[in-house]
Amino acid sequence: IIQLYTPLNWFGTYYRMIQSAFVDMESMFDLLTEEKEVKDDVNAGDLSFTEGRVDFQNVCFSYTAGKEILSEVSFTVMPGQTVALVGPSGSGKSTIVRLLFRFYDVQGGCILIDGQDISKVRQNSLRSYIGVVPQDTVLFNDNIRENIRYGRISASDQEVEEAAVAADIHHKILSLPDGYATEVGERGLKLSGGEKQRVAIARTILKSPRIILLDEATSALDSQTERNIQASLAKVCANHTTLVVAHRLSTIICSNQILVLQDGQIAERGRHEELLAMGGLYAAMWLKQQQTPESEVSTEEQPQEP
Ligand code: ATP
Repeated sequence: IIQLYTPLNWFGTYYRMIQSAFVDMESMFDLLTEEKEVKDDVNAGDLSFTEGRVDFQNVCFSYTAGKEILSEVSFTVMPGQTVALVGPSGSGKSTIVRLLFRFYDVQGGCILIDGQDISKVRQNSLRSYIGVVPQDTVLFNDNIRENIRYGRISASDQEVEEAAVAADIHHKILSLPDGYATEVGERGLKLSGGEKQRVAIARTILKSPRIILLDEATSALDSQTERNIQASLAKVCANHTTLVVAHRLSTIICSNQILVLQDGQIAERGRHEELLAMGGLYAAMWLKQQQTPESEVSTEEQPQEP
């Protein structure tokens, strides 16, 4: 039983990054029987984490032969800083995040954490330092307390509640029919997208990872919810090395660096004001978002219905 549930737990947290629309447990199990994409070297050691510097050096990657998704991508996230990835849909933003989590190995170049090639260290060790706030958070059929505790199974009830307070979802939970004992998930109470994201933030607070990967929800949230989420995220990410896939440019104005991806390459890089002054791609995206009603804001072209 334990062996069965361990991969399931793992699966839940990083569900979004696997990027498939699984809807039921049966298909989750199918996935678990699939061959793993990356394997640890027999002699792979543990990541020796020091300050949390991330380097992408000339990273090349394709999912299928002949279709290069990332080509010679290089950038650095300095310890404790935040780098944002923006760009059109399909430009490779999420792929970069998946590679840092080592869902796949790079085909050219390398990714280093504190100078160590992540393809040479044990996956479990690498992932123990990384927390993911995915776009769509999976809630298990359990009560909300256990859903949050999932970030760190050993956390006490009090720690769970403190995390919920920090993620700005405590009051919402108290208003539920059974408070923290309220059943959620497919068979329980349905939470909104913003609430689920706050559960993910609370989980991440409990895990307290050194590096945070954040995939901002594409779906527009109402502006109050957005502000609350931004505030709790700012708390979580402060002084942590953070890589964020951003869909709303307004949320990344303060990033230490913004990378604008296009066709698998970094087309522009700099801080918000620098990129605006450059008058290129980013400036055009910014202008477009300023002109778009809040409810429709996204950095991406939505595919047109045929
Ligand atoms: P979005 O903002 O829409 O999520 P993105 O910039 O994050 O887009 P990625 O998800 O990184 O883009 O995808 C980059 C390219 O890789 C796209 O063309 C996509 O179709 C392709 N791709 C993504 N995942 C896979 C996969 N598992 N197998 C094959 N191709 C994939």
